[in-house]
Amino acid sequence: MYNKYSMRAEEFIDHQEILDTLQYAEENKNNKALINRILEKAKPKRRGRETVCEGLDHREALVLLSCELPEVTEKIYRLAEQIKLAYYGNRIVIFAPLYLSNYCVNGCRYCPYHLENQNIPRKKLTQEQIRQEVIALQDMGHKRIAVEAGEDPVNNPIEYILDSIQTIYSIKHKNGAIRRVNVNIAATSVEEYRMLKEAEIGTYILFQETYHRDSYLELHPTGPKHDYNYHTEAMDRAMEGGIDDVGLGVLFGLERYRYELAGLLMHAEHLEAVHGVGPHTISVPRIKRADGIDPDQFSNGISDEIFEKICAVIRIAVPYTGMIISTRENKSVRERVLRLGISQISGGSRTSVGGYSEQARPTDTEQFDVSDQRTLDEVVRWLMEMELIPSFCTACYRAGRTGDRFMSFCKSGQILNYCHPNALMTLQEYLEDYATEQTKQIGARLIAEELKKIPDCKVRKRAEQWLGKIAEGARDFRF
Ligand code: SAM
Repeated sequence: MYNKYSMRAEEFIDHQEILDTLQYAEENKNNKALINRILEKAKPKRRGRETVCEGLDHREALVLLSCELPEVTEKIYRLAEQIKLAYYGNRIVIFAPLYLSNYCVNGCRYCPYHLENQNIPRKKLTQEQIRQEVIALQDMGHKRIAVEAGEDPVNNPIEYILDSIQTIYSIKHKNGAIRRVNVNIAATSVEEYRMLKEAEIGTYILFQETYHRDSYLELHPTGPKHDYNYHTEAMDRAMEGGIDDVGLGVLFGLERYRYELAGLLMHAEHLEAVHGVGPHTISVPRIKRADGIDPDQFSNGISDEIFEKICAVIRIAVPYTGMIISTRENKSVRERVLRLGISQISGGSRTSVGGYSEQARPTDTEQFDVSDQRTLDEVVRWLMEMELIPSFCTACYRAGRTGDRFMSFCKSGQILNYCHPNALMTLQEYLEDYATEQTKQIGARLIAEELKKIPDCKVRKRAEQWLGKIAEGARDFRF
């Protein structure tokens, strides 16, 4: 029986409820009156000084996703853009993945790191090699990374991950610093999540891959990841361990996308119902070519158009949740979805173990083909040319604005007084320390224009002062 308050995976991701939702969506996909009510419900509304969005439940979201009327799709896109601007403005947070180890004991059929793959060299970075990687990332200008590792209790035990996080935070090379380490490692115990919290991680990210239990079992035939319930209930254990920023995701292409979106939103509703706070982020990866992995062998691949619509519907359904897109997607897809709700992107990424310390892009241990192979400087410039602000900000997490505190901060409309100047100051740091001349010039113009948008004049003056100090060599100011 479906019950979002339940702690059991089979009840909060109830298969029958997903099937009923898909049927309801199919029956109502041309029901204009209902669709208009859903769109109206999702619109941002003023409540006193706050702009509030109600979001949508999984049934409502699935009606929008299933509707194929072009005029409705257009309305969905416009609404997604409106919500994106209301909460995230034109800022785009930048991060890079850091692959620590590709040792893995699982048998995931879509991932080249699976245990049976004898083709790829297995690598695990030493703390000294991590130092080199972090220096290379800092020299590009990164301040925020996502640590990635395969699941292997012998080669990658929690102690290794914790040591690595400590190493990453400890390195201060020139003006560089990694100020937020997000972690994407396999599902684990409450005790180990508590250790990660104590190591001061940012978001704990774990992709569900697929919410469809039978497909999940087939796609993960061996290894600890085979346990659907343990994997699906991981975020509850993470929250019990004190991590209040968790990131969900589905690997699109494994199952039917409508099924996946219903499951993903039910998962978000469950977290909100039980812990009072929904997911901090949602990622939307699609399967990519990799060693021994041919995306065409998975029959549920989705077109760019469907992908865009999924992004827009997620934006509308969970308006306060950050949305992440990686370099799995190419420049033009990234460009379109940035408008529709994406708030974080990776740039200059290497998806191989030790990839940043090497001159040429190594491919032998890549987890997946990188479609967007531009440098970070090119990504930063490209964003600014679209009048988006590349942000290297990590202030919320360092000021304790996580979990429900972040959500209420987001709703309170203080974003223009906090996030906006913080984004501009971290961009200024990037321009001073790492940018090419051309990027610097575009950036200086953008910062001057964007400063004018800060509503509180005291905050604006203070931001101007701090920007001046950054130009003189000081670093790390934040509201
Ligand atoms: N090992 C960890 C786990 O079990 O969750 C996570 C780390 S893994 C390096 C990160 C994610 O990459 C996986 O959760 C999966 O969704 C994604 N991935 C694996 N193979 C992929 C492929 N061929 N194309 C795109 N993404 C892939």
